[in-house]
Amino acid sequence: MQKIIIAIDGLAATGKSTQAKKLASYLGYRYIDSGAMYRAITFFALQNNWCQDTNNCDEKALIAALPNVQLDFLPDATGKSVLHLNGTNIDNEIRSMAVSKWVSTIAAIPEVRTFLVAQQRAISAQKAIVMDGRDIGTVVFPDAELKFFFTARPEIRAQRRFEELQAIDPDITFQQVLENVVERDQKDSNRKTSPLIKASDAIEIDVSDQNVSAVFQLLLRYLPTNQ
Ligand code: C5P
Repeated sequence: MQKIIIAIDGLAATGKSTQAKKLASYLGYRYIDSGAMYRAITFFALQNNWCQDTNNCDEKALIAALPNVQLDFLPDATGKSVLHLNGTNIDNEIRSMAVSKWVSTIAAIPEVRTFLVAQQRAISAQKAIVMDGRDIGTVVFPDAELKFFFTARPEIRAQRRFEELQAIDPDITFQQVLENVVERDQKDSNRKTSPLIKASDAIEIDVSDQNVSAVFQLLLRYLPTNQ
């Protein structure tokens, strides 16, 4: 069986990670959540008080500290792969609204992207990877054998994320989540370095009116026949 790289990019909260996990498990591949890595760097910046109440973080301090950041995806007790920052499980912390608010600002810093893209490529050296994100099919793996690009209407995406977030933050409102997904897409699409854009050879899928299993069945149809 030829091992391949599958890239799933797209707008915020379109269910990329749900589908990427399902595909990885179906194929016996490894799943990598590249968004979690940008969230981890953002959490690290917030922990160090480098982001204040403006649109800017102390980029210089963050860039200088990057060599001290160790990120590892390690299995938890249930076998689920969770991200550790310098040895600490930060899986819940990186989903907080504070991290979501700042992550697109941090992800626009070219040095942060160079740092993370190198790690994403190193993890994937043996292929057999499903990775989701924003620039996986365009920048990280322009030669990926299979690329998807997910879109959906903003209200549907916000509702999905709202339901997930209520479990970790009961005070959150639908409006806050909607504003955050729209603002992140806007920032991610307009940044200079590696903007969120569909690769010319990616298969675009609008997931607005399809449930998880219907989308998964659709993705399976695009798998090379030798998988
Ligand atoms: O995938 P998720 O929504 O958790 O990603 C959080 C943020 O990380 C995105 O809004 C984007 O700013 C950034 N990101 C990125 N490039 C990636 C993955 C995520 O810029 N490959």
